Amino acid sequence: MANEPVYEMMWDCPRCDTKHLLGVTHRYCPACGAPQDPTKRYFPKDEDKVALVDHPYWGIDKKCANCETPNSVAAHFCVSCSSPLDGAASVALKDAELADGSKAPPLAPAPDAAKKSSKKAAKKGGMTGILVGAMVLLVGLVVCGGVGAMLFWKREAGLTVAGHAWTREVTIEQYATVKDDAWKADVPANARSVSCVQKERSTTKVADGEDCQTVKVDQGDGSFTEKQKCTTKYREEPVYDDRCSYLVDRWTKGRSARAAGGLAEAPAWPVVTLTCAGSVLGCERESDRSETYTLSFTGDDGAALSCDVAQAKWSTLPVGSKWKAPVGVLSGAVDCDALTPL
Ligand SMILES: [Zn+2]
Ligand SMILES: [Zn+2]
Repeated sequence: MANEPVYEMMWDCPRCDTKHLLGVTHRYCPACGAPQDPTKRYFPKDEDKVALVDHPYWGIDKKCANCETPNSVAAHFCVSCSSPLDGAASVALKDAELADGSKAPPLAPAPDAAKKSSKKAAKKGGMTGILVGAMVLLVGLVVCGGVGAMLFWKREAGLTVAGHAWTREVTIEQYATVKDDAWKADVPANARSVSCVQKERSTTKVADGEDCQTVKVDQGDGSFTEKQKCTTKYREEPVYDDRCSYLVDRWTKGRSARAAGGLAEAPAWPVVTLTCAGSVLGCERESDRSETYTLSFTGDDGAALSCDVAQAKWSTLPVGSKWKAPVGVLSGAVDCDALTPL
């Protein structure tokens, strides 16, 4: 703070049009005597800057309510008209500027302010973007809606039960040696023939210098300071780790045993004969079981249709019995949850 250079703001006399008057030194126009108008203060160009050495800063000027002359906060009576200054309002501050005269970004952006400005920017890019987006959305809706309607388009169909089928399947796993690879920390304890190579696993952000801008900040008393606004730059750096390939003995999906039949054969699980049991290479164990109970129908238009149901329902619909249910026009899928007798 203490080392920031201080310069004179400038103002142009509104009465005699003298340019580049100094904010601190010229409280009155030296050419015509008009009082300084604080609303006419501006930041000078870099080549026009006038430095203030040991400038005592009291605070933002107060504006005389009677004659609008800016007064130091240290003053109690207006230097121009002697009116009391108690309760007088501060003069308005100019927005901070960059060296090229453009508006400076906030020095310490509040999270809310940052959000608002980015929203504004998004809005600017704007109306055309929103319109295009709306059009795309509309076309998308029509197309998807159309396709969706086709997919979900159903008709009520008469159905005659034509047959029954069931399957029951047991998945069998085999204890076997498999090749696998993992990051070193994740290699299983029983792995062997482990060989590792360094590989890029991720990246990390590393601070890489700063981008700095000089910002001119109005002090409100006819002077301004220059502050450095710096943001840290980052670069991505790879993070390496050992990627290891190895052999390991583990349970792997092998064959499956399957049984199938119709209404005449009571559903039963297939008899599974394991080569041998236990965590020994080449031995097997039973894994997942799955079962399906399928009803096949002849539709009222002669089409062959089918659906899967629970075993209890499957066995209670005799061949030749007549039902109705919604059927997908394109998919031919029968909604068997909605089967009602005809
Ligand atoms: Zn003047
Ligand atoms: Zn006054």
